Amino acid sequence: MNVRGGSAAAKATIAQGQVFIDNAWRPSASGKSLDLVEPATGKVFARIAAGDARDIEAAVTAARRALAGEWGKLAALERGRLLTRLSHLINKDSEALAALEARDTGKPIGQARSDIAAAARYFEYYGGATDKVHGQTIPYSNGQIALSERVPHGVTGHIIPWNYPAQMFGRTLAPALAMGNATVLKPAEDACLTVLELAELAREAGFPAGAINVVPGRGEAAGAALAAHRGVDFLSFTGSPEVGTLVQIAAARNHSGCILELGGKSPQIIFADADLDAVVPVVVASIVQNAGQTCSAGSRVLVEIALAEELAGRLRDAFSVLRAGPPESDRDLGPVINATQKRRVERFCGLAEEACVPMVAEGRIDEGAAPEGYFVPPRVYGPVPRDHPIAREEIFGPILALMTFENEEDAVTLANGTDYGLMAGVWSGDASRAIRVARRIGAGQVFVNDYASGGGVELPFGGMKKSGHGREKGFAALYDYSTTRTLVVKHG
Ligand code: NAD
Repeated sequence: MNVRGGSAAAKATIAQGQVFIDNAWRPSASGKSLDLVEPATGKVFARIAAGDARDIEAAVTAARRALAGEWGKLAALERGRLLTRLSHLINKDSEALAALEARDTGKPIGQARSDIAAAARYFEYYGGATDKVHGQTIPYSNGQIALSERVPHGVTGHIIPWNYPAQMFGRTLAPALAMGNATVLKPAEDACLTVLELAELAREAGFPAGAINVVPGRGEAAGAALAAHRGVDFLSFTGSPEVGTLVQIAAARNHSGCILELGGKSPQIIFADADLDAVVPVVVASIVQNAGQTCSAGSRVLVEIALAEELAGRLRDAFSVLRAGPPESDRDLGPVINATQKRRVERFCGLAEEACVPMVAEGRIDEGAAPEGYFVPPRVYGPVPRDHPIAREEIFGPILALMTFENEEDAVTLANGTDYGLMAGVWSGDASRAIRVARRIGAGQVFVNDYASGGGVELPFGGMKKSGHGREKGFAALYDYSTTRTLVVKHG
């Protein structure tokens, strides 16, 4: 099936639904495949391989061979050049990749273009970093010199979700490869076509066989097998807290480390002296982006009581012009990923209505949107009682919970009052107060007078509490994807 206008090899890859092991495409061991449904139409549009434990076994074996072979012997500089070359290839193919990402995930084409640019940027950033990670010399006893160096874990396993397939490929693989690990990636069964394309581009860039292996398949089959495999030295997982717990247990059984990135219920704290002209577009974008299916979505707005009415009015106006539409129409948001996710969003809206939480604002579904697509209108509910599920649980949809606070202390309590701790925004005209409050928020990233859901490639990103642990992005990721070897030399 021709799903994009890229190279013939890439099209064939997708059509046949294969796994990518040792730089070669091959059928999965089961020979079975999974349907991919287009979120904007609800119709099957492609197939991917249903990889299982046998394919994971082959992929891990290939990765171990790569470590002992050409890949493991490359100098840091050479690894960097490969990453940089892949970055260029992604940029060269960006329009076709964006079209594929938009169709597969349902996101507006403009957002998909930004995602592809971000995927390329990961390889650019980490490509330039490979030869800049230094160890230390350590003052030790006389007659001995002690030093430490950063070394790769070995084989790293990566399990990623469907919300940002291309970006996740870059976010998790680029730093792992930069440090010299050999990788096995299990993409999500709901959306992963660009991941397959990127694997093909990596081969074109010249990555040696086994450095990157991709095994699509179901979570309980391919994902669980990867998490449990004794040949995997380190795991990186992004997805739900429930599966994250299973992955951490599997890692513990093998005495290996893991990064968990498990989502959030991130607050934006808005004091009465904030500049609403600056606040409103950012608040709207941070819940509408990717139809709210972003781990760092700004899904709670906490506003000082004196400003609550004015903010609600502004949000009403801003949401009234929002439209959900198919990817190619490049509206404000697309559909959510699948029927389950749509039902989940509707369930939370139902709970708000049952509890008589007022709906403050609502956008609309575009007339051009297919009725079978998984579209939901973006909404704001408020004031939401502090213990209501939409104030505490991750909905993963374009639903904003508006809540009020009385003073600085109350704002901090409310902001820290969920199980999550991924991201936060603090908005105030008083810079001292904004910084003081920001430093009391239990979250991995805090923005002052801004909120960039996802943040930049340069910024260490990850959670506290139920949002997970470990850091992706920035130099922090290079440390998480490597470990320390200490060397002591006696010289007499
Ligand atoms: P999920 O956690 O089930 O899936 C994430 C990845 O884990 C996928 O690749 C999946 O195949 C894999 N997986 C599933 N079961 C597994 C297992 N037993 N062992 C190993 N891997 C397994 O997430 P979902 O079902 O796609 O979405 C459910 C909820 O998770 C969403 O509503 C949302 O709240 C949350 N979520 C969070 C993020 C995030 O970026 N933090 C991304 C996607 C979903």
